[in-house]
Amino acid sequence: MQLAKSLLEKYSKAGPRYTSYPTAPYFTEAFGEKEWLEEIKQTQDRGRDLSLYVHIPFCDTLCYYCGCNMVATKKYEKATEYLGYLFQEIDRVAALANPVRVARQLHWGGGTPTYLNPDDIRRLFAHITSRFTLAADAEAGCEVDPRELTREHVKALKESGFNRISLGIQDLNASVQQAVNRVQPESLIRQVYGWMREEGFDSVNMDLMVGLPHQTVETYSNTLDKIIDMGPDRLAVFNYAHVPWMMKHQKLIIESDLPSLQTRLALQQLILDKLSAAGYVYIGLDHFAKADDEIIRAQQSKTLYRNFQGYTTHKNCDIYAFGASSISQTDDVFVQNVKKLPDYYRLVGEGRLPTERGLRVTNEDKLRRDAITRIMCDLELDKTSFGRTWGIAFDSYFADALVELKEMEADGLVILSPEKVTVTQPGRFFLRNIAMPFDAYLKQQSAEKPRFSKTL
Ligand code: SF4
Repeated sequence: MQLAKSLLEKYSKAGPRYTSYPTAPYFTEAFGEKEWLEEIKQTQDRGRDLSLYVHIPFCDTLCYYCGCNMVATKKYEKATEYLGYLFQEIDRVAALANPVRVARQLHWGGGTPTYLNPDDIRRLFAHITSRFTLAADAEAGCEVDPRELTREHVKALKESGFNRISLGIQDLNASVQQAVNRVQPESLIRQVYGWMREEGFDSVNMDLMVGLPHQTVETYSNTLDKIIDMGPDRLAVFNYAHVPWMMKHQKLIIESDLPSLQTRLALQQLILDKLSAAGYVYIGLDHFAKADDEIIRAQQSKTLYRNFQGYTTHKNCDIYAFGASSISQTDDVFVQNVKKLPDYYRLVGEGRLPTERGLRVTNEDKLRRDAITRIMCDLELDKTSFGRTWGIAFDSYFADALVELKEMEADGLVILSPEKVTVTQPGRFFLRNIAMPFDAYLKQQSAEKPRFSKTL
């Protein structure tokens, strides 16, 4: 698969990652705690399973590229204080949940969940499972920062019940690591990765990042060779989103050190070539997995789904999310918690649910969400069955979108037939762009204030 510079230039524009539709910038304060409480109560008997998310916002140090809601601190007592409030929030929601509902998925993200010490990892996991029933075959994943990690952390994760690990790597090159303030030598990564395997984790994902300062084809080729040699089951190679107007600390990255568009193109080509030669299948966007991974089977059988944690094989779950900034979801609603810790503590302390803003989706939103999900996950959209499901004449309903897609067809990103929209192999790289014509909210976006990072 060959990427062309002209396509990268043409399609590199601000756009969502579609971990939700409508996307988070369109949530409003008109949907808050009262509405969320009502929604929780009304959705207990609809037979949907649960997916639980827990946000741990603390990190030892700040990575300059970070796009997460986090607090850099060395004071562990802050985490202890946070856990006290987190437990209260979990209890409050659990008390409203029908106990027959089973959690198929549990995910801890951050920040750095392994900022918690091993005892607190066990304590939090036990608290969750004392309030919610985790399915015996639940997917339980945790994001891990290799720095400051001990073997005791890994044991605590495994003994608690986690079965998936996602390791934050980004790049193994020393000058890149220094430029982004995330120094973690290869020897450390190999040691931590060895612990994971020895403790019995048979699903390990590694997160890499492309577009960071000082990256060259030569240095990144070296990084990829070492990563492939370690052999993670899945890889996510994210594009660094340089949005200093939204993330002030990204101003610590020297813009002139960032790779040029030409270099980024060469890096992307390198990633595609090296990972496919090593047997990884390109799912689309930034994700790769070994050919026998269940995520690949899910894509082939059209059961892959996308939520705030990225691609998932667990469709039709209500997401109950806990902790500052976390986002919960039912079929009809999105709701996000307050982001700042003092606000979170105040609201939880008052016995309330710490919600800040949300959205009740319309039928039109659901229809468009389905179209976007089909593109992002199945890499094709069957117009006939879609039209039948939603009671629309596809070509006239999406006449605007089809005009935009026609241009993408000329660029080789999609194939349009009377029956289907099919994403081509090169189109997998441009999935965000291919989904955007189906997004009704983007047309309202103000040109002066970008809300999203660039798609490429
Ligand atoms: S460890 Fe992750 S969340 Fe923490 S600063 Fe680095 S990138 Fe951000």
